[in-house]
Amino acid sequence: MKTEFEFIQWLRTRAGNAPANLIAGIGDDAAIFSPASDRELLVTTDLLVEGIHFNLEYTPPSLLGNKALAVNLSDIAAMGGRPNYFLLNIARPRTMADNQLEAIVTGMLSLAEERSITLIGGDTSASKDRLFISITVIGECERGKAIKRSTAKPGDKICVSGSLGGAALGLELLKAGKRLKDMRSEIENTGALRNYLTETVPLRAHLAPQPRLALGATIGARALATAMIDISDGLSSDLGHICKESGVGAEIYAQAIPVTVGASLEQALNGGEDYELLFTVAPERESDLEVLRKEFSTTEITVIGTITAGSDRWIIKDEIKKPLLSRGFDHFENF
Ligand code: ADP
Ligand code: MG
Repeated sequence: MKTEFEFIQWLRTRAGNAPANLIAGIGDDAAIFSPASDRELLVTTDLLVEGIHFNLEYTPPSLLGNKALAVNLSDIAAMGGRPNYFLLNIARPRTMADNQLEAIVTGMLSLAEERSITLIGGDTSASKDRLFISITVIGECERGKAIKRSTAKPGDKICVSGSLGGAALGLELLKAGKRLKDMRSEIENTGALRNYLTETVPLRAHLAPQPRLALGATIGARALATAMIDISDGLSSDLGHICKESGVGAEIYAQAIPVTVGASLEQALNGGEDYELLFTVAPERESDLEVLRKEFSTTEITVIGTITAGSDRWIIKDEIKKPLLSRGFDHFENF
């Protein structure tokens, strides 16, 4: 087994090219970089705990590493910024082999490279029996242009990117024994794409979410949204976060919600982990929203409802109006 020092040296050779404003990355007591003067820094962190956030029985290690970074990048996208750097804290269980640990980091670094993000430091520890991964991402946006949760206004249209419910369906399939690699061989052997949409797409949605970096940064640069959040807990809860922080209510239409093929409305509303962007657009910016839609033509952008005055949240289904309860994920409740 590698020593801690050998692991850090191994990491260091793979941390990628340093951008011009990075003065020192891995190797010193702290990293140094110099941010541009017309920018604000965005900093976010997430903690992933084995057995709580992921299960190594059905998560390929490289995809786990990829997802651990992806969910943090999604938070920067949801602020309307772009990510630049990240720090990695990892506590490795004594039973974990070098190659498994390295596969996790390799999956993470391949996403970092794809998105031009540089690993600039972190900390490494042993753990008694569980793997812990905590990532901190540093991003930036133009001064004053970060998009918060707290600034939605009555009359704004509620928009969502992509489709919802896929990650929840994917998790259900994984728990029922479906595996991505089985799907791959099934497709290769039979040439059939029969289950592609209903099984491979949701498995991928759960195991390999794609953060909406370009979309988030573009919405930010154009100040197109009044408020924005990424859907990690679930649409019902994350819309609830925007409403509570903004002191507004909402009405959404069940029929308008883009549900992933094979998923249920319940999974789309409360499933979580889709890492799509949920944002609100002022009525006078509708034509700009159209322009955005044309530019991001491969990404669905759907208007699902309207922000209202007051604090009530409603879902309208078959002309019946029901309270929209925040039924998404809550760590303390679900424990
Ligand atoms: P210190 O004792 O000052 O915490 P370490 O020996 O833990 O220093 O780390 C040495 C260098 O390696 C530091 O620059 C640190 O940021 C980096 N480093 C340690 N662990 C990781 C990690 N898991 N990912 C990235 N960089 C790491
Ligand atoms: Mg240390």
